[in-house]
Amino acid sequence: MAVRHDLEIKPMLGQMMQLPLLISSLIVHAERHHGDQLVVSRRVEGDIHRISYREVAERARRVANAMQALGVQPGERAATLAWNTHRHMELYYGVSGSGRVLHTVNPRLHPDQIVYIVNHAEDRVMFFDMTFWPLIQAVAGLTRTVRHWVAMTDRAHMPPVEQAAKVPNLLCCEELLARTHDRYAWPVLDENAASSLCYTSGTTGNPKGVVYSHRSTVLHTMAAALPDCLGCSATDAILPVVPMFHVNSWGIVYLAPMTGAKLVLPGPCLDGKSLYELLESERVTISAGVPTVWQALLAHVEANGLTFTTMRRSGIGGSACPPAMIRKFRDTYDVHVIHAWGMTEMSPIGTVAAFKEQHSRLNDGGRLAVMSTQGRAVYGVDMKIVGEDGAELPWDGQASGDLMVRGPWILETYFMGEGGDPLAIDADRNGWFPTGDVAKITPEGYMVITDRSKDVIKSGGEWIGSIDLENIAMAHPAVAMAACVATPHPKWGERPLLVVVKKQGMEVSREELLALYEGKIAKWWTPDDVVFADTIPMGATGKMQKNKLREQFQGHRVQA
Ligand code: ADP
Repeated sequence: MAVRHDLEIKPMLGQMMQLPLLISSLIVHAERHHGDQLVVSRRVEGDIHRISYREVAERARRVANAMQALGVQPGERAATLAWNTHRHMELYYGVSGSGRVLHTVNPRLHPDQIVYIVNHAEDRVMFFDMTFWPLIQAVAGLTRTVRHWVAMTDRAHMPPVEQAAKVPNLLCCEELLARTHDRYAWPVLDENAASSLCYTSGTTGNPKGVVYSHRSTVLHTMAAALPDCLGCSATDAILPVVPMFHVNSWGIVYLAPMTGAKLVLPGPCLDGKSLYELLESERVTISAGVPTVWQALLAHVEANGLTFTTMRRSGIGGSACPPAMIRKFRDTYDVHVIHAWGMTEMSPIGTVAAFKEQHSRLNDGGRLAVMSTQGRAVYGVDMKIVGEDGAELPWDGQASGDLMVRGPWILETYFMGEGGDPLAIDADRNGWFPTGDVAKITPEGYMVITDRSKDVIKSGGEWIGSIDLENIAMAHPAVAMAACVATPHPKWGERPLLVVVKKQGMEVSREELLALYEGKIAKWWTPDDVVFADTIPMGATGKMQKNKLREQFQGHRVQA
């Protein structure tokens, strides 16, 4: 890493305009240059709603004025508990653009955790979709700083008066916006000002806050739009299934106005049938979400003999995308999977499994192997793997170690210094963020995650990669979901156990599943046993909760 922090040089300065990178500039651009382009939302009220970027910009300016009217000061937090709709998008721009900080709360968290983070963030106002009204009634009395509760709906859909009386200062969003002016001049903020706040899901301990800045968000959006990333343009219609309460929907609500793409927002209906209908009726060309969502969509498409008329690319990340899913999308539906890796602390995009020029000569199998990796670093992100002593390991596709990253949209410290200083400092005095993932890197620079460090299976002192084992099981047509977890073993310390959920109405035996591993992996990696379960516990961001499975099966003994 040829970087010197101690060099004191006095460069000649460039003579270009000093315009800060601000989130408001994205919606200003969309209004001026793509004013007629549409944002289509399936709303909580049940309708399909259409609005142009011009109108979104106008309503975002009303939100900015409403912040002032509600007494939310610049730098203070305004929270949301909301689905992907135009109303949520207007808050993205109106809150951040006016210098307040948008705190997107994940409604799938436990109510105790929601109370904890709302108090921790000192949120001044909470905007919520009516889906979450029962939750709001449960938590409103336990929060300390929220002064206004704003239902993101019109008067006709507000809660009944007797219920409404239980939540103090309950407002109707549409009335609030109608009362405020649509004239507003976006302030020229420091580009390093905080723009939004998102808490990690906190499987162990309390959730920690990640504070994004205007600068980190705009840079991340530019990188996300690049051809080897989501490759989005003004000719696209993009549907983020990934929620706006989860790492800012991977940046798509910023990327669509930046590129002029049509934005299609699925609201609360994330089942296969509803998604399919919207993909088709709005002629969506590109979509993005976690593997479990695509599984439900594929099941619906398969069961009904459907095809995708316009969708040609699908961004998949958040958990490893099984190669069987990548192949099914490609070979059966002509949809190219963009497998990406990242995390909340990385805004989230870090790597994308995009091809290089030399891969055009590979056959289908070879190309599938490249697409199944977690990918190569996007410009702006650097990565390395290190051993237990902190020394960097080679990129030989064999050595695996702790994955570290650095870059301008990667976290330096958590909100309010929670968790101390997370960075590891190298010999050149560069700070690296430890991702908690265990990975190897191929000589071509493609990163392969073998495990979360806390989910690693250590057998006889050696690591077994659970993701590989899961991917092999997932290739069986009767397997809906597979998780591989460590169970205690008297001789080896830990051994892998495969937990499988079967597809409805389909059968597969333990022996059939174990036979899948023959010749594909080192023999000692083969799971000791298979158990069949009705479900696998899922966390708030769509990931398998392996800690729960480990607890559940810690007394499991191999079948005789
Ligand atoms: P997000 O779900 O948005 O990626 P989180 O912070 O909730 O963000 O989770 C990040 C973790 O998710 C990563 O550290 C990694 O363990 C896992 N992850 C994300 N993308 C992938 C992927 N493509 N393959 C394997 N694991 C992934």
